[in-house]
Amino acid sequence: MKFSKQRELILNQVKSFPIHPTADQVYSALKQSNPSLSLGTVYRNLNLLSEMGMLLKIRIADGSDRFDGRTDCHYHMVCDRCTQVFDVELSELDSLNEVVSQKYGHELTVVTLNLNGICCNCRKAEQN
Ligand SMILES: [Zn+2]
Ligand SMILES: [Zn+2]
Repeated sequence: MKFSKQRELILNQVKSFPIHPTADQVYSALKQSNPSLSLGTVYRNLNLLSEMGMLLKIRIADGSDRFDGRTDCHYHMVCDRCTQVFDVELSELDSLNEVVSQKYGHELTVVTLNLNGICCNCRKAEQN
């Protein structure tokens, strides 16, 4: 299998994942039908794809990095209980640059926001 073919395979796998997978999860999903694939190759390609802007790499403070096939502007909430990563869209933050610029005169280039909490599923489970 060629390098570029593997990269495409990995990219498609992340894009089709309903959750934000770790490199390990991408590897386990692919290895059955691609026995020649190694975890190192998956890691390398995931990092490369995120550098190329084709994937989003989500750094988790005390866990493995997650990867996201969605590259449009959105934020992530990490559940403290199940460690699942959820997409959060905050149009409220669209005006952030304007607010910071007016208030302080700074111009924002990157907004990194760490949202932690207890997800809707875990909250439901606790209420039962
Ligand atoms: Zn949860
Ligand atoms: Zn996402």
